[in-house]
Amino acid sequence: MSDGKGPTKKRFPLTLDLVSGLGGRGRSELAALNSRQTATLNAARHAATGKPVTYAKAPEMRPPAPPVDKLANMPLVSEAVRKAMVQRIVQQGVKDPMVLAAMERVPRHYFLEPGLAPQAYIDASLPIGYHQTISQPYIVARMIEVMREGVSGKLKRVLEVGTGCGYQAAVLAEVADEVYSVERIRPLHELARANLRPLRIPNLRLHYGDGMAGLPQCGPFDGIILAAAGLDVPQALFDQLAIGGRLVAPVGAGQQRLKLIVRTQRNEWVADMLEPCHFVPLKPGTFG
Ligand code: SAH
Repeated sequence: MSDGKGPTKKRFPLTLDLVSGLGGRGRSELAALNSRQTATLNAARHAATGKPVTYAKAPEMRPPAPPVDKLANMPLVSEAVRKAMVQRIVQQGVKDPMVLAAMERVPRHYFLEPGLAPQAYIDASLPIGYHQTISQPYIVARMIEVMREGVSGKLKRVLEVGTGCGYQAAVLAEVADEVYSVERIRPLHELARANLRPLRIPNLRLHYGDGMAGLPQCGPFDGIILAAAGLDVPQALFDQLAIGGRLVAPVGAGQQRLKLIVRTQRNEWVADMLEPCHFVPLKPGTFG
């Protein structure tokens, strides 16, 4: 489960090597309110264009690491399209200013292979390899908004299950003091490290392992987000939610919906079913 750091609690700020992989051992989406967006649909759309869909290895044509401020030197060219993406997210109903600001800051094109980078800011999920996807921008924003509801400042400690390419983890790192993200497919865990390295995010720590067990050595968490859908939320994650903490997860077999779980007391959790969505499956164990 862990990256070899053992059960001792690590506190932030963390050194770069913890997120960049130098110190470690190994290595969505809303059925929009009205349009169902799935990896399958995306793949079909690609197929319709006749262009082959290639799955990414760690991209080699990325800009060099910015020197100090992790986002200060992002290419200006992406700022306008990112603003337009955020405007669409607003139109779809997301209001939380901290979430919108985070979506505007994180360069989504860093998380896609060069061939798909021009599509980074469209409102769709896109392939990242290993039959997984980067989640649709709207659903990333929506889930974080639901998790943050009622909190004015930053959340303290957040867990993401399903790092994928690392995009949502980077957004989460803008709205929380500490972010832990776990991925079960080792090459994707490595890809996320490579994608995140130039951004130098000090409050984000990546783990390779089965996120269905959570990260008990790092919790309890004020917020938990699952980026993959199970039939229900794994029990271990209930226990790792802090009292007052909020968990957002896609659940269901055919028809999926977002589920919100709030831990109201030590032995009390309250659940609410939200809008339809479509995510890749939550799977047990590790791969790779
Ligand atoms: N958070 C990503 C979305 C990744 S897709 C983004 O920013 O867009 C969902 C990811 O969940 C996949 O990479 C998949 O491998 C991972 N996943 C599925 N089951 C898992 C589990 N039990 N533990 C950890 N990751 C899991």
